[in-house]
Amino acid sequence: MQNVDTIFINAFVLTMDDQLTQYFPGAVAVKGDSIVAVGHEGDITGEYSADETVNCNGKVLMPGLINAHTHVPMTLLRGLADDLRLDVWLMGYMMPVEREFVSPEFVRLGTSLACAEQIRSGVTTFNDMYYFEEDVATATADAGMRAVCGQTVMKFPAPDAASYEDSLAKAREFIRKWKDHPLIVPAVSPHAPYTCTAEILRATAELAREFDVPLHTHLAETAFEVDNMRNENGMPVIPYVKKQGLLDAKLIAAHCVHVDVGEIRTLLHAGAGVSHNPSSNLKLASGFAPVMKMLEAGLHVGIGTDGPASNNDLDMFEEVRLAAFVAKAVTNDPTSLPAPQALLMATRLGAQALHIGHLTGSVETGKRADLILVDVSPLHNAPSFKRAADNAYAQIVYASKSTDVSDVMVNGKWLMREHQLLTLNEAELLAQAADIAKKIDAFLIEREQSVLSKLIALGGSLEQESFEVQVKVKITEPAPIIQAMKRPEVEVIRQRHYREHDAYFFFDDPSQGRLRYREDDFIDDIKGIVTNVRARLTLIGVKREGKFEREVLLSRSRYIAPASQSLRFYREYFKPRAAVTIEKDRRRWLIRYKDTEFFINLDQMTEPQLGYFLEIKSRTWSRKDAEHKAQLTSELIALLDASGGEAVTEDYIDIVGER
Ligand SMILES: [Zn+2]
Repeated sequence: MQNVDTIFINAFVLTMDDQLTQYFPGAVAVKGDSIVAVGHEGDITGEYSADETVNCNGKVLMPGLINAHTHVPMTLLRGLADDLRLDVWLMGYMMPVEREFVSPEFVRLGTSLACAEQIRSGVTTFNDMYYFEEDVATATADAGMRAVCGQTVMKFPAPDAASYEDSLAKAREFIRKWKDHPLIVPAVSPHAPYTCTAEILRATAELAREFDVPLHTHLAETAFEVDNMRNENGMPVIPYVKKQGLLDAKLIAAHCVHVDVGEIRTLLHAGAGVSHNPSSNLKLASGFAPVMKMLEAGLHVGIGTDGPASNNDLDMFEEVRLAAFVAKAVTNDPTSLPAPQALLMATRLGAQALHIGHLTGSVETGKRADLILVDVSPLHNAPSFKRAADNAYAQIVYASKSTDVSDVMVNGKWLMREHQLLTLNEAELLAQAADIAKKIDAFLIEREQSVLSKLIALGGSLEQESFEVQVKVKITEPAPIIQAMKRPEVEVIRQRHYREHDAYFFFDDPSQGRLRYREDDFIDDIKGIVTNVRARLTLIGVKREGKFEREVLLSRSRYIAPASQSLRFYREYFKPRAAVTIEKDRRRWLIRYKDTEFFINLDQMTEPQLGYFLEIKSRTWSRKDAEHKAQLTSELIALLDASGGEAVTEDYIDIVGER
């Protein structure tokens, strides 16, 4: 008789090995961190004696589930902002809140919560990507779970790094330190091709190769991402990241929703793993990953919950069931993704996708003892058919609930017995999480009160306080003005021609100011083509200071930010009461008149069609100078022969807006 630490007896063993071997009544012997034997109960008990014998009472004993893609600390952001488009959700809510709140303590708490939730639902291994990944690793190891932990690298400043060089250095240090940990596999995580530069992607691929660790990233999640990639780089996402060396690393690609057969083959040849995340893809309307094509090609496809802020839970039972259902609906074929294959994705295939198939993912001799017991006797799963082997998988995939998991062991250590967590204090974690939620609520309430604070939350805005002299007249003919610009008193410094698209956002409270999204398409008049596009966001607060004949002196405080997102993004993010779009063809001259510079704008309003306007503008930081400029503006109006033009208020946008 050989002595081991634990023997599980009277179990319905689903090994999830190559032959999908089942044993009933089956037994599993565990010594140290590993499985030393699995088989029929009689064979095992005849050969092994144990310090502890666990009577499974007919429960299913199977490999712990593998959550192939998540961001565990985001448990603390669960339910914060929902029913939004990916960019508004990410850039408008997640990233600003993360910049404010994410710290090593936040990450440890969020991770501990996630571990508690995952252990309860039978997950023994997860693949993470977040900031302060060292703290994710620490909290995970403390909870006793297995994880691939990817330190995020991207082009934006992150909560844990001011620059990409910082985060790359952090990733290197993290990997070096955790490389041989029994539970944690450190990894590097360039967030996505659209949040990284080509240089960043190449650097992370080199780092992953140097230490032979996984590289975990988001690829081809939305059609928008793929379209942008094609427009900017002339190729879809997979060939692009291949060019940057990502496929030379142990790649774990989350999503792969929008990939074609050629790209699937490329991933297969590179030995890449894929995480399919049905809840996240459904909730964010990202599309349907070609899961059947990937599996048929032989790709290692696991299943992931994605972060708990976009799911909103870490329940792998739900995820597996959804994966099976969605595959059937999408292929219009109920035989697609049958239960055994779906469960394989959540176990052995998932482990292989994470490049740790040699460690976990099935109940086989030599693998780590990552095991769970599932009670299939509750009402919602009764009765039990034993006629065919597949009946058992159908029970697990189609009817079992995460709450049916009663016992969890990882690396030979108990993490849950009889529904009691052994490594985490749930009550304490819940109280701390409630405390954080209160603080985040207060932060967002404050931010949502003003357009300005929402603008600042996006980052990169600059304040400009200035006086502005402005006159605007409606004219009938542009030709005389263009002619008058040639007069000797007017010295033209620079001339430009562009199409201007303005969108003005109006808010219920006028004191919030107006937000303008402006896109300028610069036109080369000789070639007749658009040479450059510039987009800016300006929050304009207006205070009328004085009025000369027809010139208006304004004091404005303006906040200017580069508009890196789409107009649609800003509309959904700022939620204005009304939005007005104006398009004009603008000829703009920068001129010098009596040693003073002015902008002369000659606009043809094309949308709405309001005709021609002449605008003279000058900005200054001194009131005295502004008054002087107002006088000169009067002279210029006469000089340009526009004295007869009908003066309009400085804000004809308002008039248009009221229509
Ligand atoms: Zn994700």
